[in-house]
Amino acid sequence: MPDRRIRLTPGKRVLFLTRDPETVRRQLRGELNLEMKDVRVCDLMDDINTDAMAPAWACFDYRPQALARSAYAGITVDGERLFWDNALIDGNFEVIVSGKRKGVGSSRETAVQAEKYAGIRIAIADGFAPIHARNNINSGVLMAGHDVLLKLQAGEEVPLEAFMTGRDPVTRLIIEAGGLFAFTRAVAKGEVLLPVPDTTARPMTIAEKILLSHIATEAKPKALKAGDAVAVNVDGGFSHDFTSAQVHYFLTEEYGEGYKLKNPAKFAVFEDHMLYAQDMPSLAKFRPRLIEQSERQRAFQEATGVRAFLAKDGVSPGICHTVAREKMIEPGEFIQATDSHTCMGGSLNSLAYGVGATEYAALVYSGITFTETPGSIRFELQGALRPGATAKDVILFILKEYAKPGNTLDLVMEFGGPGLSALSPDERATIANMATECTAKAGVFEGDEAMIEWIVAHRPGADAKRLRSQMVRPDPGATYVGGVHTIDLSAIEPMVATPGDAAKGIPSDPTNGALIRDIGDVRIDIAYGGSCTAGKEDDLDMYARVMTRALAAGKRVAENVNFFIQFGSESVEAYAAAKGYLDVFAKTGVKVIKPGCGACIGCGPGISENKSQVTVSAINRNYQNRSGPGALYLASPLTVAASAVMGRIVAYEPDMFGEELR
Ligand code: SF4
Repeated sequence: MPDRRIRLTPGKRVLFLTRDPETVRRQLRGELNLEMKDVRVCDLMDDINTDAMAPAWACFDYRPQALARSAYAGITVDGERLFWDNALIDGNFEVIVSGKRKGVGSSRETAVQAEKYAGIRIAIADGFAPIHARNNINSGVLMAGHDVLLKLQAGEEVPLEAFMTGRDPVTRLIIEAGGLFAFTRAVAKGEVLLPVPDTTARPMTIAEKILLSHIATEAKPKALKAGDAVAVNVDGGFSHDFTSAQVHYFLTEEYGEGYKLKNPAKFAVFEDHMLYAQDMPSLAKFRPRLIEQSERQRAFQEATGVRAFLAKDGVSPGICHTVAREKMIEPGEFIQATDSHTCMGGSLNSLAYGVGATEYAALVYSGITFTETPGSIRFELQGALRPGATAKDVILFILKEYAKPGNTLDLVMEFGGPGLSALSPDERATIANMATECTAKAGVFEGDEAMIEWIVAHRPGADAKRLRSQMVRPDPGATYVGGVHTIDLSAIEPMVATPGDAAKGIPSDPTNGALIRDIGDVRIDIAYGGSCTAGKEDDLDMYARVMTRALAAGKRVAENVNFFIQFGSESVEAYAAAKGYLDVFAKTGVKVIKPGCGACIGCGPGISENKSQVTVSAINRNYQNRSGPGALYLASPLTVAASAVMGRIVAYEPDMFGEELR
């Protein structure tokens, strides 16, 4: 349990993550110690993403101690790592300081562990991404703003209260306990009483209604509002080959060998992220660790009896989010999984979001979790998309217009309105998937008959009547703390998110939205269609639509361009085969890849090999080095396919390939 009063430890140091790399290097070498009073916040790095703190290859080792040795290995300057091996450990730091929005991106708790096991116990920033903040809290790492560091460096003792500002009552108890497992132990022993919100009956959002229906305490509140802290039952979830080994490690550490899960049949493991990395020459040196991660996941599955979606004959059954949506998630459910794109499940009218390995370990063990009721922001969809525009363009628009200024931060993005029917269930999933890029808590769509039909079509024998009865609609008059905003779908134009400009300090970020007609002539080397956000049936329809028209016009993938399409699941692959798409792809020079995450996380064919290469990709993240060292533009499946044919980034237009089609 942390002291009630926090002070700096004599002899320990404070690391400032400055925009100037040489200043960081000098601190790491022990040549420079900075004071907050001498540093301007604008000179600190903003938007440090979790890939930078713990890049994928560093996470191939699930042991937190090993992660610490590679802390911040994802930040490179002129192709060189800013943090060399053991740099954070050897620097003897206990506080790390950055600018705005620390910990954006993936839900990987490994980012927190890389810092914590290197000695960091206090993280200072002007705001933290929601999942990252949660991971810090669960791991017992304290967070505060720059004002608190000023006091600490002035020699003051700061009350623990200063590290709890804005936190709900249960989260405060977790911070006081020193982390989630310590808190869970205290609850089990009856040492902590969970507060029950006294919110009176009121109109509620979808998220509020779903959480209310899952209250796990005997005493039930009448209603919930944003900020209410609750213990809730979890309907289901999953971990994958990037996280299961850690979940197993933490559960064994906490409960010993032979621990038992409360409802293993509701949870699952997936072999999807790293499977094909084992065959990549550039990752050959990590092969033993990759195999160990896979074996540890199998050991976890065998020990617990959770559902197994594991590779057969070296082929993944699919990306966890894609398969969970096809086979597991139902309307009205509360879903938790160890991946930030868990929010994709919200397309099926569920409340679903990602958590770190510690939080998942605790909830998969007990079936219960603790959460603060999130606020919501409502998007009223109107009209219909014009030809050439897609759901990806809608979410790139929302990222630019709403997420970049911070309007979606930590909120549930609720989607409904008359335009909903103009978006297919797969297209809704594209939008829900990228709620995490908006740094939102989750994305949730209202349900309708099209959604029910989609579920039944993918789950033979599913009971449509029961599914319909589980649908949750918002109450008229519900409070949206982020406001209600209208999106006119007919006004959406094809967009990209640009790779930014490192020289000007503009990071590669999905919020860098730009209209394709404004970006000029961008030549490409690689086009990639796949990932959880763009490897679904409707996405395959879009790639195939473009390539079919190209084929009819006597065209194919441009010379010097490699166009990869990777299926989201084996079911999507079977769909593409049944529709005849594989033939079209073969005839037009598209390289198809078996289901899995692949290049999206730098673990498969389709990644760039050098800085000079340019990729246009339908994935959801364009963070530096995530899919190779080159520049990466995010775009829709239509744009990706059209660009692959033209050799430069272009928006798709039905007659773009010439007279032959008429
Ligand atoms: S496809 Fe990419 S974004 Fe989706 S789960 Fe896999 S690695 Fe994450």
